[in-house]
Amino acid sequence: MEEALLRERLASVRGRLERATEGRWPVPKLIAVTKTHPLEEILPLRALGVTDVGENRVQEIRAKMPALGENFQVHLIGRLQSNKVKYIIEDVCLIHSLDRLSLAEEINRQAELHGRRMPVLVQVSPAGEPQKGGIAPEEVLPFLRQIAPMPGIAVRGLMAVMPDTEDRALLDRLFAGMRTLFERVRDEAVQDVEMRELSMGMSGDFELAARHGATMVRVGSAILGPRQYPTA
Ligand SMILES: *Cc1c(COP(=O)(O)O)cnc(C)c1O
Repeated sequence: MEEALLRERLASVRGRLERATEGRWPVPKLIAVTKTHPLEEILPLRALGVTDVGENRVQEIRAKMPALGENFQVHLIGRLQSNKVKYIIEDVCLIHSLDRLSLAEEINRQAELHGRRMPVLVQVSPAGEPQKGGIAPEEVLPFLRQIAPMPGIAVRGLMAVMPDTEDRALLDRLFAGMRTLFERVRDEAVQDVEMRELSMGMSGDFELAARHGATMVRVGSAILGPRQYPTA
C-alpha cells in the first residue's frame, strides 16, 4: 500500500478516536491489527507512530517474528489453543483471549518455565456467542478468583468481541454493559487482579467502543485495508 494512503487512514482513525472520547476518557491505545498482511505493509506503520500490533494466529506470529517483535509490541488477540502457548509465550506482550481454565493453566505453566509473568485479558462474550470465544459476564468474577493465584499469570483487564451486526442500539447496550462489568470487577478488588485495560472495538465500531470507555481498540481493515485472505 502507498505510504500516503496508509498515513491518511491512520490519521483518520486517530482523529475519529479522539473525537469519540470527547475528553470524557483518555484516548484508547490503538492496536493495529496486522493479520493477513505481509511485513512490508506492516513495518511502515512504525515510522507513523504505531507501537502496538495485533495478530490472531500463532503460526502467523511465528512466521512474522522477529521482524514484528523488533519493531512493535505484539498482542495475541485471537483464539488460542493450549498446545500452542509455548510458541508465543516469549514473544507477545499481552494475550487478549484467555477464556477457559485449561488455557490459564497452560499459560501459567509455560510462563513459569520461561521465567515470566504473562499479562492477560479475560475474554468475555457480551452477547452469548460461544463460537467466538469468551465467558459469560456472570462467570467473570468466579473465573478471576480461580486464576488470580497463578504465579505465571498477571490479569490486566477484560476483552470483548462484539457480534457482527448493524444494530447500533444493540452494540451501544453491549459496550455499555462491558464498561459496567469492567468497573464492577475493578471495584471488587480481587487480590492479584488488575483491571486496567478494556479491549473492545474494531474497524466497524471503534468509535462506539471509545465512547463507552475502551482503553484499547483493535483496528485492522480501517488502517491496512481489507484482509488479504479470509480468517476465522
Ligand atoms: C481481526 C480482528 C480485529 C480487527 O478487525 P477489523 O474489522 O479488521 O478492524 C479485532 N479483533 C479481533 C479479535 C480480530 O480477530
